[in-house]
Amino acid sequence: MSRTLRAPGLPPPRRILMRQVSLRARRHLGRWLDHLAPRACALCGTALAAGALSGVCTGCLLDLPGAARGRCPRCALPTAESPCLCTADSCTANSCAADPWPLDAALAVADYAPPFDRLIHALKFGRQLALARPLGELLATAWLGQTDPPVLDCLIPVPLGPERLRTRGFNQSLEMARAMSRCMGDRLPVLAHSLARRRDTPEQSRLGLAQRRANLTDAFIVHGRLEGCRVGLVDDVMTSGSTVIAAAQALKDAGAVRVTALLAARTD
Ligand SMILES: [Zn+2]
Ligand SMILES: [Zn+2]
Repeated sequence: MSRTLRAPGLPPPRRILMRQVSLRARRHLGRWLDHLAPRACALCGTALAAGALSGVCTGCLLDLPGAARGRCPRCALPTAESPCLCTADSCTANSCAADPWPLDAALAVADYAPPFDRLIHALKFGRQLALARPLGELLATAWLGQTDPPVLDCLIPVPLGPERLRTRGFNQSLEMARAMSRCMGDRLPVLAHSLARRRDTPEQSRLGLAQRRANLTDAFIVHGRLEGCRVGLVDDVMTSGSTVIAAAQALKDAGAVRVTALLAARTD
């Protein structure tokens, strides 16, 4: 009898299927529970007011690490000045002033630092899918809180590689994008399959900058054209920026006219 070959370390297909069924059920269950019990702040557990826009209470919102710092508008790195006086030409903290830099703008909710980082960690590695909602809502709040938010035509999540998606069972960035769109009244379509990874790449955090860039050459593919689209590119954490930049470049190559990175967190 022939057997399907699997990559070493992958759970059996039945377990992967059961995980996906369970994730779908948990998504629906979460929405039903909202009607039965008040939501609690994702960080401190305080009960939230009915209809609260953000899944984090006002106190925690004000205390988010780095939330009060000014950020470079093109790479979201914190700047010394607050409010941010950094411009694309004056930003020297990062190479975002260099050419080419495919991101037109970048917005980060907070620094990737305690206690905020544990939300992202628990979502990704603790499989606490419910945390995608407060993170998506924080993105929506940050986006709408801008003085004059530019128009977005769609949200596109940074995709996972095929094997990582199978083992994790969900893409945290897609879940955050969906939550952000819902929070904004479902006005923004989420293009879940427009951007894909051709292959799995090693964990970026284990590589140096040059390796990260080489690792991501041609890593992304866009299905269809995005002619004239103003895209919100959703990701959980931006570190060196290599992944987001490579994804943004693929979107631009497919016709997008403007790409804004929407990040739950930014590392220094
Ligand atoms: Zn709180
Ligand atoms: Zn910058």
